[in-house]
Amino acid sequence: QSKDAGGGVFHAYEPRLHAQAEERRVLEQALRQALEKGEMYLAYQPVVDADTGLLTGFEALLRWNSADFGNVSPAKFIPLAEDARLIVPIGDWVLRAACDEAARWPGHARVAVNVSPEQLHNPHFVTTVASALATSGLAPERLELEVTESVFMHEGMGATKVLERILELGVRLSLDDFGTGYSSLGYLSRTRFSTIKIDRSFVQGAAKGAPEATAIIRAVVALARSLGMATTAEGVETEAEHHMVRDFGCSKVQGFYFSRPVLVEEARHLAARREREAA
Ligand code: C2E
Ligand code: MG
Ligand code: MG
Ligand code: MG
Repeated sequence: QSKDAGGGVFHAYEPRLHAQAEERRVLEQALRQALEKGEMYLAYQPVVDADTGLLTGFEALLRWNSADFGNVSPAKFIPLAEDARLIVPIGDWVLRAACDEAARWPGHARVAVNVSPEQLHNPHFVTTVASALATSGLAPERLELEVTESVFMHEGMGATKVLERILELGVRLSLDDFGTGYSSLGYLSRTRFSTIKIDRSFVQGAAKGAPEATAIIRAVVALARSLGMATTAEGVETEAEHHMVRDFGCSKVQGFYFSRPVLVEEARHLAARREREAA
């Protein structure tokens, strides 16, 4: 019983719940200061062409090395940042850092940046993207914003309109973790995504021989093709999985088989190597 029947006062009698709430509070406090303390940085995971294996770009993935907690997983701190209304300043920082970095790469590798629904629904979002491009000098078509189906959950909030303005800047859009969220397909006809990213769960499922996962990948590839969109298979961990998704017709692949997310120096090095291969 956590609620006082009389006065409605909340008492955290349950020790485990109390410990969890306390951990969240302390973590959130640390998260508030993470940027200014220089504890955050970006890792870059290569995305390669499924047929040629050549690098097409990188996905920027946020990392937090906390003085108090060590490395905290994005799966833990991103939802916390969203709840604590910290995702807008943190997301702005990610966008600027990724554009600044990509502008320095030799060649034309793209950079993909994950965008939370809260950022998209912020009135300054389009201005922030335009400003990150202007400041860095990055060509707009080299920036790709990744959103998930969840941005369309409350269409009253106008995601389609914001995305339209993003497209007008010349920036590309991709639909992340496809198939794991909201299932209406109407928005696919309203927003011009360049790429649909097929969630790792389907790739792993198909690799284990699950006929449903296989059917879903095939269907998504066919759907994307007919809409003029590319597909990226996420979470490809083995050569067999690479060949499988390539044979299903996925255009691009990303996963530990090709590379884990790497530090900036390594990303620069890979971008330079790709330039030499192209020449
Ligand atoms: P995501 O956007 O779907 O990113 C892909 C995640 O899969 C990354 O996890 C990546 O390290 C992981 N991954 C890539 N290849 C493989 C593989 O072969 N096997 C396995 N097991 N995993 C693989 P990460 O970096 O932990 O990020 C988790 C999620 O956190 C991301 O999923 C994204 O939703 C969110 N995130 C990360 N950085 C940002 C950011 O800057 N802003 C926002 N809003 N969200 C972010
Ligand atoms: Mg992503
Ligand atoms: Mg993803
Ligand atoms: Mg995913």
